[in-house]
Amino acid sequence: MLQFEILHESNRSRARVGRIHTSHGIIDTPGFVAVGTSGTIKALDLATVHAIGLQLMFCNTYHLMVQPGTAVIQEAGGLHAFTGRNLPIITDSGGFQVFSLAYGSVANELKSKGSKSGANLVVKIDEEGVLFRSYRDGSMLLLTPESSIAAQKALGADIIIPFDELPPYHIAPEALKQSLARTHRWEKRSLEAHLKNPQGQSIYGVIHGGVDLELRSLSCQELTSLPFDGFAIGGSMGKNKEEMQHLLSHTLPLLPKEKPNHLLGMGDLESIDRGVALGIDTFDSSYPTKAARHGLLLTGQGPLKLEKALYSRQFSPIEEGCSCPTCQYHGLAYLHHLFKAKELTGLTLATIHNLHFMVQYMKGIREKILIDQI
Ligand SMILES: [Zn+2]
Repeated sequence: MLQFEILHESNRSRARVGRIHTSHGIIDTPGFVAVGTSGTIKALDLATVHAIGLQLMFCNTYHLMVQPGTAVIQEAGGLHAFTGRNLPIITDSGGFQVFSLAYGSVANELKSKGSKSGANLVVKIDEEGVLFRSYRDGSMLLLTPESSIAAQKALGADIIIPFDELPPYHIAPEALKQSLARTHRWEKRSLEAHLKNPQGQSIYGVIHGGVDLELRSLSCQELTSLPFDGFAIGGSMGKNKEEMQHLLSHTLPLLPKEKPNHLLGMGDLESIDRGVALGIDTFDSSYPTKAARHGLLLTGQGPLKLEKALYSRQFSPIEEGCSCPTCQYHGLAYLHHLFKAKELTGLTLATIHNLHFMVQYMKGIREKILIDQI
């Protein structure tokens, strides 16, 4: 089980510097969590992940259930043994993806790949859970609080997430209330399933309630009364950064200080800056890796678009002084060329730089908190 150690609390904000100790190593907080949907950070091998100093990786149970299937990973001895990774891992419940199939982003993603609409893949949603069809082979999969926890036991991540309902973005207030009540019942069932066989894993409760502050309070009240090891903040965060900030500044003080917390799916620099000052410990986002694969490189002066013609003869590194392996050896012109030539190495080099940037950015944030500058 994880141990959370708080090293310093800022006297200027709610920001804090801490360390989450897991059986697969330490997570320094505030920390950035890279997304490794299918058990790998896209385009990176393990040696590079170590070299960059990335600590926690976020894997998606839904994707791993569909491919290669949790049975294969269990047979290998869990996700750490299967991937050869001896660093901490967090898995989600699969709920987000399954509900996105019905309501949102994943449905659009599949549609754009020419697959059936995601909504057709969800067969039934009721109190028991969600019945859906695998987009890979059409087989039926039932995701319930108990089966999500069973899958996450097979994967064996250090931190797991209870099964929750993701309501559609446009939802009537009464429906949101009912959805929240169901989410609380599902999270409780998940926790009970987990506690029957903790297996050294920790579980974070997920605070819901959308943009309704009263419901957020209710969610904190209900879930903090249960023995979760930490808390994640999920659901709709509003339509802009101001709404997110308003919501987080309301929610964070309602969470127990001595437990770590995580902001789900938000990891752009502005969300990180705002979230850290409000007391968020970890952030996951696929933004830096996705941006890298689209030739968008993160720098202290804002992102740089690699495809621009002006970089074809710029032989200096992405950012002067960057200590990442990409900038140590290569100039922008070479990276620009690799992207133009569609060489896979380009994706790797861009990903290395962006994730190194995030690791260093969080390190800088921790240093600032330690001297009460944040
Ligand atoms: Zn670099």
